[in-house]
Amino acid sequence: MSTARLEDLSKQYDGHLAVDRINLDIADGEFVVFVGPSGCGKSTTLRMIAGLERATGGEIWIDGRPANHVSPRDRDIAMVFQNYALYPHMTVAQNLSYALRLRNAPRGDIERRVGEVARSLDLARLLHRKPSQLSGGQRQRVALGRAIIREPKLFLMDEPLSNLDAKLRVQTRAEITRLQRSLGITTIYVTHDQTEAMTMGNKIVVMNGGRIQQADTPQQLYQHPANTFVAQFIGTPPMNLLRCRLVPDNGAIVARGAGVNIAVPLESLTVLRSRITDQEFLIGFRPEDIVMDAGAAANGVTGTADVIEGLGHESLVSVKEGENAFIARMSPENAAPIRLGDRLSFSVNPERLRYFSAETGAAIRVP
Ligand code: ADP
Ligand code: MG
Repeated sequence: MSTARLEDLSKQYDGHLAVDRINLDIADGEFVVFVGPSGCGKSTTLRMIAGLERATGGEIWIDGRPANHVSPRDRDIAMVFQNYALYPHMTVAQNLSYALRLRNAPRGDIERRVGEVARSLDLARLLHRKPSQLSGGQRQRVALGRAIIREPKLFLMDEPLSNLDAKLRVQTRAEITRLQRSLGITTIYVTHDQTEAMTMGNKIVVMNGGRIQQADTPQQLYQHPANTFVAQFIGTPPMNLLRCRLVPDNGAIVARGAGVNIAVPLESLTVLRSRITDQEFLIGFRPEDIVMDAGAAANGVTGTADVIEGLGHESLVSVKEGENAFIARMSPENAAPIRLGDRLSFSVNPERLRYFSAETGAAIRVP
């Protein structure tokens, strides 16, 4: 059990800043997921925590002690990679017990730990097999078991599921989550897959361009993204963002843009006005937060049906109007009568409206 803290952690590769002043506190027993597009610095951060890569700036603290100059083997960290390699000539039991045998642990202890780990990972019936006699998922579980058996302070995983097929990935991700909760080992998990991140982590760290964009609970990331990057990275399809300006209309103030005509709540106006320049900003809402209107919406979004995707349990309708476009998530029944080129109107749930700076992309939090 352990805590970790990153302070202004940076990594520079000759002229290229791969990780740019990351600050993060990881509590004991927490399951933190780093997520972001390829090349955003996830692996580099993880490798610095493991001690496999030297930080060029900032501090790493493990259990309240500076760890920058502690060698990897003395950090008491276990790491599982995408390309895990089991020893092909050893049985599952021998693979699992390898680290303990290296340490000259007493025989009885080794047998007990192998039994426990095999039970928790459902490997008990496979202990005598060689890796070549296992499925991909079983091999991955052995790789996890080999890391867990050492009872490390920190458990680091770098895209450990990306070699598995879709179905096995869903199953194994549930197993890892269950295992982490039951063992309570502080874990940092890296993935580029936002669904994996959302389903596994207590805390999700969204990275882009070497920087932390937002570190928050899955719910907060989805409901209150800190900027347009997070708004569009988290959620499939992403949050809709439409360009508009504040315009006086019949004594009220409305957000107006191509296909947009939305009354802005009075209490939000002061904050909004103080944060936008040139009157321009982005209005955001999730695809499920709009409802199709029978008539023309006086207050909402409108446009022309551009693409209709039926997914069985739901339909996604892309709507376009001038420079703006958005996606509506609908029931298959409601989407059935829609034809390409139809004019469509939707009202937006006012509580779910979000605002962003058109200049910087930063969220504008309004009351
Ligand atoms: P991620 O794991 O998020 O895909 P990485 O941490 O592997 O990203 O890489 C971050 C950035 O650092 C990328 O631009 C990558 O090309 C660069 N990088 C990674 N390792 C090295 C290296 N050994 N030398 C130079 N550049 C590197
Ligand atoms: Mg990586």
